[in-house]
Amino acid sequence: MKDTKLAAAAPGLGSMGIAVNTTPRDGAHPLRRIAAVLWRSDLRFARSGWQRVALALAALGALVLWLLPQAVVNDPLSLLHAQSVRIFYMVDDLQLSQLPSSFAGLLVAIAIGRAIFVIIVGLLDLLLYRRVTGRAFDWESMINVSLVNGFLMLSGVFVLANDGLRSLLAHYDRLLASVPTLVDLNGALALVVAALIGDFCFYWSHRLCHSNRFLWNLGHIHHHRNRNLTQLTCAIEPPLMLLQAAGGISLLMLPLLSKLFTTDIHSAGLALIVMMLADTWTDPSHSTAMYALESKSRLLKSLRRVLVTVGVHFVHHSREVEGRYGTGCNFGARLSIWDRLFGTYAEPGDAIPETGLFDPKADLCVNPLRYLLLPYARMGLELRGNAWRDWPRILFGRVDYEPPNPVRMSH
Ligand SMILES: [Zn+2]
Ligand SMILES: [Zn+2]
Repeated sequence: MKDTKLAAAAPGLGSMGIAVNTTPRDGAHPLRRIAAVLWRSDLRFARSGWQRVALALAALGALVLWLLPQAVVNDPLSLLHAQSVRIFYMVDDLQLSQLPSSFAGLLVAIAIGRAIFVIIVGLLDLLLYRRVTGRAFDWESMINVSLVNGFLMLSGVFVLANDGLRSLLAHYDRLLASVPTLVDLNGALALVVAALIGDFCFYWSHRLCHSNRFLWNLGHIHHHRNRNLTQLTCAIEPPLMLLQAAGGISLLMLPLLSKLFTTDIHSAGLALIVMMLADTWTDPSHSTAMYALESKSRLLKSLRRVLVTVGVHFVHHSREVEGRYGTGCNFGARLSIWDRLFGTYAEPGDAIPETGLFDPKADLCVNPLRYLLLPYARMGLELRGNAWRDWPRILFGRVDYEPPNPVRMSH
């Protein structure tokens, strides 16, 4: 529990920065006092007595909460009656009705296998964590992240049910309808082009999330903060701001590019299976167990030439990278070719890198409240402590921009 011990000494809001004080005055509103206590408290259980039982129950709840998004994303049960399946990340789902039923059944079986594979990998991370990393599994981190993810998923339901957002998307659909199709593609070539377009869009939106303060501080930072990254302790991003989530911008770019290159992948045949298997292998991209396996196999390492394997993505989460990779590397979702082409590729080493933020003083976010709200609180304080003329750069400047009156609070 190296990190949670560190957490006790980690600076919280109360001890640092301009106009930061979470110690309420005598006579402060009770709610404010409760909020201050919650903000400062460290979610940490002793490994004995009733706390051990409480930890076991909380960990079980966290595991169920973790399984929930796996079910939402992959939905193995509904796949049995599926109308469509995902072939490759960021490629439009394939409608099954136009395929022979035996072939459609095979694709559904692979999709179910993909969902089960992610769950098995998550459980292997749990079982093999100490063997792979030499540290005990960080149960508190998993509970923290699961609570945060649970909240973010809930907020996503409200966002997607929002009429304003829906009408905005309807406008975009109408705009797309007016875009002409330039190239018509079919079969395996269509599938490859669709995968290239999808990953290209993801690459640039993800890279933008790492360079723009607004996109980074108000969203993508959540995904990067955990110092004990595994498939079970991986934070999703706030869906409240669709555009700042990695992939959010590409969701807008993708249909546009796809419209220019209309691609019909139904007749792709064997290529559909190959791409689905590649998608399955790269899906659990935050697994320490898979990192250990990959680092021992020359064959698996060779996949890095084309695919964003778990090793490649883990380096993206590293806080050890230096030099030209210091502001980020390996931005692709499934294909490593864009990073290689645009000079942001970093080859993984055999040892699993330390993960987390580049800032060595970064807050360890020892409770879900702080995990969720710290970036927003920090940006709010930066705005409050600086002149209006600095606000555009505080909000939308480069990630490494430091305002004239900096907030002495860690990320
Ligand atoms: Zn990232
Ligand atoms: Zn990630």
